[in-house]
Amino acid sequence: MSLTREQMLREQICLVGQQLHRFELIDGSAGNISARLDAERILITPSGLAKGFLQPEQLLLLGMDGQRLADTPATAALKPSSETPMHLEAYRQRPDIGGVVHAHPLYAVALTIAGINLQRYTIPEAIILLGDVPYAPYATPAGDEDRLAISDLITQHDALMLSFHGSLTVGKDVWEAYLLLETLEHTARLTYLVHQLGGGMSLPEDRIHQLLALRRSLGLMRDRP
Ligand SMILES: [Zn+2]
Repeated sequence: MSLTREQMLREQICLVGQQLHRFELIDGSAGNISARLDAERILITPSGLAKGFLQPEQLLLLGMDGQRLADTPATAALKPSSETPMHLEAYRQRPDIGGVVHAHPLYAVALTIAGINLQRYTIPEAIILLGDVPYAPYATPAGDEDRLAISDLITQHDALMLSFHGSLTVGKDVWEAYLLLETLEHTARLTYLVHQLGGGMSLPEDRIHQLLALRRSLGLMRDRP
């Protein structure tokens, strides 16, 4: 029996949750994951449950205004992620995306709190994949402030940091959004390690521009010129 698109997305979201837990990209019940099912509906993780141990039937089906659809016995007592407004804003601003991941990647968050650019020391592929990762202004989580903080930036970037908080990555599907988060945290760890070693050299400006040109030619460029 072949899986329906909805079943496939539910399993993909649970798999991403397991990866977030395995690689310590989230803590406790933090983080949230969503996927666009179609033009009118998204699937999103519930609030208050550990995202590494979710069952596919525990994901909530919401309309684009956040209204609950098709509750089942498995979801009746659950609340949708408190960051639902931020996810819905990303889908509204970006018709091209199908997945959104919010996490608390340890090294990336540490560098933003320390005021160090997480991309200070990086490798060519990370520049091609991530482009420029902006820092959204600090906003109180779980409400309209987060939504407003990312509303403009998400139109131009696939990966951004919420200051003093965490990451937001988007992709054509939820798996792509997750992989971008891996690249983001890998880049932050590299910057941290070089910093611990006493510092190093950044790629020359002209080389960075070459990589950004390559990013543009690959159709990945959303950053402002
Ligand atoms: Zn968070």
